[in-house]
Amino acid sequence: MFVKSETLITSANARNSAPSDEREVLIGQSTPEIVRALIALGEKPYRGRQVADWVYRRGSSSFDSMTNLPLPLRERLAQTFRIGSLTETARRELSDRRTRKIAFAIPGGGVVESVFMSTPTRHTFCLSSQHGCGFSCRFCATGRMGRGRNLTAGEILEQAIALRRELPEGSRDFNVVLMGMGEPLENYDAVTRALEILSDPAGMNVSPKRITISTVGLVPQILRLADEGKRYRLAISLHAATNELRSKLMPVNRVFPLEPLLEAVRHHIDKVGQRVTFEYILIEEINDGIGDVARLVRLVGQLPCRINLIPYNPIGPGKFQRPGPERVQRFVDYLRPRVPAVTVRYSQGVEIGAACGQLAGGMERGPR
Ligand code: SAH
Repeated sequence: MFVKSETLITSANARNSAPSDEREVLIGQSTPEIVRALIALGEKPYRGRQVADWVYRRGSSSFDSMTNLPLPLRERLAQTFRIGSLTETARRELSDRRTRKIAFAIPGGGVVESVFMSTPTRHTFCLSSQHGCGFSCRFCATGRMGRGRNLTAGEILEQAIALRRELPEGSRDFNVVLMGMGEPLENYDAVTRALEILSDPAGMNVSPKRITISTVGLVPQILRLADEGKRYRLAISLHAATNELRSKLMPVNRVFPLEPLLEAVRHHIDKVGQRVTFEYILIEEINDGIGDVARLVRLVGQLPCRINLIPYNPIGPGKFQRPGPERVQRFVDYLRPRVPAVTVRYSQGVEIGAACGQLAGGMERGPR
């Protein structure tokens, strides 16, 4: 990948926490809930539907712009509600504007990061589900922050609404991946609520097939997703094919080792009828040898799956390194004929700290 120069832009109102505000937040409420809130103000149900349409389908950021509502109602709404609760504090982007990392201050203090990525054929929004992360995966920058707090459904959804404004003129479709900061399945209720609203055909209308939940492998929640018939795509951060190595890289493996994890994945495939993605970071001399790839094939080769190889992105001090292209190629050449599908993802945004595993609220104290 070419090294591109980057642009730093800091909003004039940069600050590390949003101002305290007692008004109820609309983003994160479903259309029926917004309808009920407007009824409580003495309005007809259709007024609530109009407001929800402005918030979700059209992405308005002010009540002023809701021009089919009478002016007095717009003023009353602005006193009672606010549309969202995130404040953009900084952004870093590649010079070609294909990848943009945006930092948002969240209520109560702290910053979460979201990434807008585009290729000529598709746009992908990478969203955070928690501020910080308590799973301590050894290769991950967010893991170094430690446990923070769960984001609310509104805070998760608002990232998507904000990133949608970044789409080029004329583009409407986008994919969503919960691969930003945090472990989405540890924040199950807020995540599924946000995704429910995101995929509402009358609102933002993002097909569940375009939404991917990525997890360290929380078995009970994988089973729950399957049993509740949620049709989002599932990605498992695997990264090792033996319990011994996986427990070293990902301490969560001591609680949910490979056998119950793969059992849960099989259950998910059966119920949801979609293939699963296994993410596998390639770390030089740690998990990228021929023995490693042979074990990986034995472990998952029979499942309807895609293996997504991510050459390790450096995250500062530490002993891990990205393997050279020959080692990556050797791994791919062995794997490709033996599993249903393989992709190699050199993440976009490495230079601006926006690649997989690099999000750690680094812009919390202003951009680096
Ligand atoms: N907690 C979830 C989602 C966040 S991480 C999960 O673990 O799946 C999103 C993906 O980036 C995961 O597959 C994660 O393992 C990977 N990742 C983390 N650190 C990385 C790094 N330094 N280089 C490449 N990928 C990394």
